[in-house]
Amino acid sequence: MITVLVTGASGLLGRNLQGLQNTDYNWIYLSSKDGDLRNHNETNHIFELHKPDYVFHFAANVGGLFKNIQYPVEMFHDNVLINENVLWACHKFAVKKVIALASSCVFTPNPVAYPMKEDTIMDGVPHETNASYSWAKRLMVLQAENYRRQYGMNIVMVNPVNLYGPYDSFDLENSHVIPALVQKFVRAKRCGDASVTVFGTGQPLRQFLYAEDLARVCILLLKTPTTYTSINCASDEDTIKARIDTIARTLEFTGEIVYDTTRSDGCFRKTVSSERFQTLFPDFTFTSFETGIAKTIQWFEGQI
Ligand code: GDP
Repeated sequence: MITVLVTGASGLLGRNLQGLQNTDYNWIYLSSKDGDLRNHNETNHIFELHKPDYVFHFAANVGGLFKNIQYPVEMFHDNVLINENVLWACHKFAVKKVIALASSCVFTPNPVAYPMKEDTIMDGVPHETNASYSWAKRLMVLQAENYRRQYGMNIVMVNPVNLYGPYDSFDLENSHVIPALVQKFVRAKRCGDASVTVFGTGQPLRQFLYAEDLARVCILLLKTPTTYTSINCASDEDTIKARIDTIARTLEFTGEIVYDTTRSDGCFRKTVSSERFQTLFPDFTFTSFETGIAKTIQWFEGQI
């Protein structure tokens, strides 16, 4: 049976992948307990041990806007080392196919045109608030292209938009916007609070992707031959405010929503194109935000 090694399997995407219970492959789910991917020798040891046919590379030091603003050194250091070690090991151990995660934040906030297509990934510079994480991902894109060109590596980089779903990190300061909002609104509803404070103006535009959808896409990518090195995976865009209102409505929260505009809005818009994705998977249906957020809230309520 084909062995698929999954780095970062205890993260949001990895846990949703495990939830699919796919039996087509022999899955090896790695977490930080199995070794430190920032360490070259430990990474090689893991590959030596499991001898994977395929690799899903999901591991990263990841967080929301405010973690990226606070820890730019670690966001660069950890991610550059992890990505370099994993891709090197994929090459050294002759992995037959690699699906690795980049991010829609690799794109510049000042593109020539929206939605942004894969061939503009290296245009301009990423947004200052998450420059370290974005540059680390850009370096991985460059290295993926190098490996493909020099050694014929079969590698696909996926650029997902903002992910959310069950198993996310719901920490208030470091998490992404959706888990932070779910946490705030669920607690306010339970405590009967009169108001909830959210950050920024609510005006920035984002595309959100239910993590289980991306897990399904990754399995499809394993099975689908493609010569593309980068593929965006995106749903429709809307304002942060519209998402906040949906969460409040789902929870029947009728109190006041206060926008703390002293906190950063981050990048205003980072909308990416789905054109390439749709030519590959024309029948793929994304979970609507309303359905995905209801499932996420239900999962979170079961955890607290
Ligand atoms: P980004 O998409 O990479 O910028 O990161 P996030 O997932 O953290 O989303 C940040 C956007 O959501 C910014 O416009 C924030 O101002 C807004 N936002 C509103 N409330 C919150 C919150 O409680 N936490 C976070 N992380 N962002 C929030």
